[in-house]
Amino acid sequence: MDPSSLADQLNAEREKTLERIAALAHDREGVIESCVSTGVDDEHDPEGATIAFERAQIEALLDQSRRHLSDLDRALRRLDEGAYGRCEVCGAPIAAERLAARPTALTCIACASRR
Ligand SMILES: [Zn+2]
Repeated sequence: MDPSSLADQLNAEREKTLERIAALAHDREGVIESCVSTGVDDEHDPEGATIAFERAQIEALLDQSRRHLSDLDRALRRLDEGAYGRCEVCGAPIAAERLAARPTALTCIACASRR
């Protein structure tokens, strides 16, 4: 595997993830704003429940994206250290097809399935 194209791929993915986080944060602000401007009561108004649900969904997506971002950062750091592609747990090389499917994988399939 070519490490420089891999870094490009991880960095591109990182950019995309940062954009997604910014968009989600913007969406969340919009939801909060519409909540404030209409003065809906979260608990009793049915529309308030929808907004609360929407907000929870955005929070979940934000969480997911932030986790993905930290996975990407870790993968990039490991690439820097020359440790990329090695299992964090047992040190064995991670299968190429696993890395192709999930470039941020830190453990081999055996260790991942043992968790
Ligand atoms: Zn392992």
